[in-house]
Amino acid sequence: MSYDTHQKRLVLDCLADSGRAMSASEIASAVPQVGSSSVYRILSQALEEGIVASSRNGRVRLFSYVGRCHHHLHASCMRCGALVHMDEDSSRRMERLLEGQGLSIAEDAVIPCICSECRRKDG
Ligand SMILES: [Zn+2]
Ligand SMILES: [Zn+2]
Repeated sequence: MSYDTHQKRLVLDCLADSGRAMSASEIASAVPQVGSSSVYRILSQALEEGIVASSRNGRVRLFSYVGRCHHHLHASCMRCGALVHMDEDSSRRMERLLEGQGLSIAEDAVIPCICSECRRKDG
């Protein structure tokens, strides 16, 4: 395995194992053996390949591992960063609703939400 492939594996495994959205700097501190400029490069490559999706929490850009997910949409919690893989049925319904407005959702979109866990904390 080449040095580059090894670094990419480390970054993507870190993101996949976390099961939530992470910022590039969080990832960089979780895998200190990969330099932060390499982390950015690997993430933008992975975005293009569609194995990582990005969302935003305020000014911070977050990244989520979506692997080879197909046929469903993703949502991520704006508070804790949890990534939710929506079920296929709900994804279709959401797409149809948007179509009604003349919109089609981008394949790599991550819908910003507040998860049930965080909502519960609000009381
Ligand atoms: Zn949450
Ligand atoms: Zn998914």
